[in-house]
Amino acid sequence: MNPNERELHYPLGDAVPGPGTTIDIYPGVRWLRMALPFALDHINLWLLRDRQDGIDGWTIIDCGINNDATRAAWEQVFAERLEGLPVLRVIVTHMHPDHIGLAHWLAERWQCRMWISSTDFNAARMASQSTTGFGGERAAAFFTSHGLTDPDAIAKVRARSNYYAGMVPRVPDQYRRLMDSMTLDIGGHAWHCIAGYGHAPEHIALHSPRLNTLISGDMLLPRISTNVSVYDLEPESDPLALFLVSIGRFERLAPDTLVLPSHGKPFTGLHARVRQLREHHEARLAEVMMVCTAAPSHAAELLSVLFKRKLDLHQTTFAMGESVAHLHALWHAGKLVRRLGDDGVWRFAPA
Ligand SMILES: [Zn+2]
Repeated sequence: MNPNERELHYPLGDAVPGPGTTIDIYPGVRWLRMALPFALDHINLWLLRDRQDGIDGWTIIDCGINNDATRAAWEQVFAERLEGLPVLRVIVTHMHPDHIGLAHWLAERWQCRMWISSTDFNAARMASQSTTGFGGERAAAFFTSHGLTDPDAIAKVRARSNYYAGMVPRVPDQYRRLMDSMTLDIGGHAWHCIAGYGHAPEHIALHSPRLNTLISGDMLLPRISTNVSVYDLEPESDPLALFLVSIGRFERLAPDTLVLPSHGKPFTGLHARVRQLREHHEARLAEVMMVCTAAPSHAAELLSVLFKRKLDLHQTTFAMGESVAHLHALWHAGKLVRRLGDDGVWRFAPA
């Protein structure tokens, strides 16, 4: 347990659901877990008892990645953990492959609708048909312009043009739109949509005041800090500022709110967690400012400052996006200026 985690409380202890099984958080709120083929090796999904148009069933929150193992785990859940009831709808917090990957399969399997923000629906549809910052020629050019020169890494990024589509080959053709401040009735409980920015185009978290529970998606995680990256599709964006404003909105919730995150274990202590994330990013920003003050610097040079561990390619591309995000936060705040060098690389220096 890292020092930050000591400020949090895990009410379910070390219990985690095995593949194809579930743990009841409350009656009618079930936790399941699917494996992921990344360093981040799992995603949490949620089943909420529901009733739509007089029919009893379940709402699924997030889907898992598109592979046979996840489909098999779902089939086991359908057979053993739904009390013989159907799935009535699939809510997707955001467009990332581990969350939306199997939405098309679930929606067809149960003839039900996917609910998602419009921004993420369209971003997912576009990404499943092209490339958007996860790989390909434009991503390689973007990383090069931020100082990534390792020919091996660049070649791999260029070759990875099918990265998103490989994990999300299809997105449902139709959807129900989720928007900030909407209230959903799920099984007689009101769940409020809280939009969040900076991680995905328009992430939707769900909060139930009566259950005192927040389904936080990827916007608030207990152990790791949420990925906040600049992508080639929107190369001048300022996602870190958006993220910090967005997590501030969770501070309005009750201090003892139970947080159900997409990765890690259910926890309480969301105010402490928001403060920790703010301090974490402020410390990183101070380090970036210091390095750029010593000499104009590019994002690739900052990797060793921001990330103390050795990174593989998957981690390096995420880390590059994060490094640019920190530079852009200081740039958009007017503390840094950027100049394109003769070598085609953006370097940032104090304003
Ligand atoms: Zn995500």
